[in-house]
Amino acid sequence: MDFDLTEDQKLIQQTVREFVQKEVAPYAAYYDEREEFPEEIFRKLALINFFGIIFPEEWGGVGADYVTYALAMEELAAADGSVALSALAHISLCSNHIYLAGNEEQKRKYLVPLIQGELLGAWGLTEPNSGSDAKSLRTTAVLDGSEWVLNGSKMFTTQGTVCDVVVVMAITDKTKGHHGISAFLVERGTPGFSSVKLRNKLGMRGSDTAELIFENCRIPKENLLGQEGQGFIDSLRVLEGGRIGISALAVGIGRAALEESIKYSKQRVQFGRPIADFQAIQWMLADSEVELEAARMLTLRAAYLKDRGLPIKKEASMAKLYSSRACVHAVDRAVQIHGGYGYMGEYPVSRYYRDAKLCEIGEGTSEIHRMVIAHQLLKE
Ligand SMILES: Cc1cc2nc3c(=O)[nH]c(=O)nc-3n(C[C@H](O)[C@H](O)[C@H](O)COP(=O)(O)OP(=O)(O)OC[C@H]3O[C@@H](n4cnc5c(N)ncnc54)[C@H](O)[C@@H]3O)c2cc1C
Repeated sequence: MDFDLTEDQKLIQQTVREFVQKEVAPYAAYYDEREEFPEEIFRKLALINFFGIIFPEEWGGVGADYVTYALAMEELAAADGSVALSALAHISLCSNHIYLAGNEEQKRKYLVPLIQGELLGAWGLTEPNSGSDAKSLRTTAVLDGSEWVLNGSKMFTTQGTVCDVVVVMAITDKTKGHHGISAFLVERGTPGFSSVKLRNKLGMRGSDTAELIFENCRIPKENLLGQEGQGFIDSLRVLEGGRIGISALAVGIGRAALEESIKYSKQRVQFGRPIADFQAIQWMLADSEVELEAARMLTLRAAYLKDRGLPIKKEASMAKLYSSRACVHAVDRAVQIHGGYGYMGEYPVSRYYRDAKLCEIGEGTSEIHRMVIAHQLLKE
């Protein structure tokens, strides 16, 4: 068993770390306070080809593996969880769906500019009445001559009001259950497509979250993405890779919280000593370190298996379930270690605390991942 990273993996990890600590981290509080999507930051991330990490060079990508992607996503999330969530929706969900299911023309038209950061992507599966039970979605797409006509709505779509293109899942044959769901590419500005920004989120406030509305929205026939009836099946493949991304994101937020806790506990003096001298504080630091390292290992293992084309259904769910819990524990301890100062907005730990919870909800809730893991165990 080899735990060493390759030279390429180390190089990308180091490059991303230096870049995001300089170009992303200093602005995280600014965008969080304003609940504003950081377009400028996104443009900068394109300069280091962040959006192309997992895609082949022929499409303008880096051609790196999922281990590298996980390492990079951890770094980005340690700098700003909101930007990491936005990047995740752009890369793992929108771009990857097009990469996995799109034809040559769609890849040229959408994937290449998405990788280059010239287009911003979103991905809509969740609806107001279908979240965990995603296949009970209600949005419909009906073929009318040379156009599909979309009707319905999507809920909690990341990048919903700022994206240029969104992948939308809709029913094309309601008699076929989830085999009657297809995916479509819808461009911003298409008549009948509108979106409403959802404000006042608990955390991840620098990411844009929206409700999408489709009212007799007509798109060209060729905007069907993948085979008709395959949209939901393709979504499951997309989400499997996405779980590696969100696991790494959780590790990144947790790690940032631990690093801040170590720094603060050495500075803060009570009873004439730095609080880091107290065993109660040391145990909190130790517990976070152990849990985050275990989370990182589960994440990298799932990535390693994916890179070898091995099944990762259980492994990706295990990584996502455990990492998100480890993250929530770490941010909770971080606020505790910061005492009253942690509760106020002065230190970043209060933002980490708010951002962390999303990791237990997005890309499948913890309950759903326990179901997936148990299902795999019982059928083995
Ligand atoms: C900030 C943010 C960004 C998001 N971005 C996107 C995006 O870009 N694209 C997208 O498509 N979606 C997105 N989502 C949606 C996200 O994936 C869903 O919120 C999530 O899947 C849960 O669905 P729900 O919110 O409808 O909760 P529900 O499914 O209604 O669940 C409510 C509760 O019931 C539990 N529950 C449900 N079913 C079961 C069961 N069978 N057994 C036990 N417990 C169960 C859940 O675990 C949860 O605790 C985003 C959500 C948020 C908050």
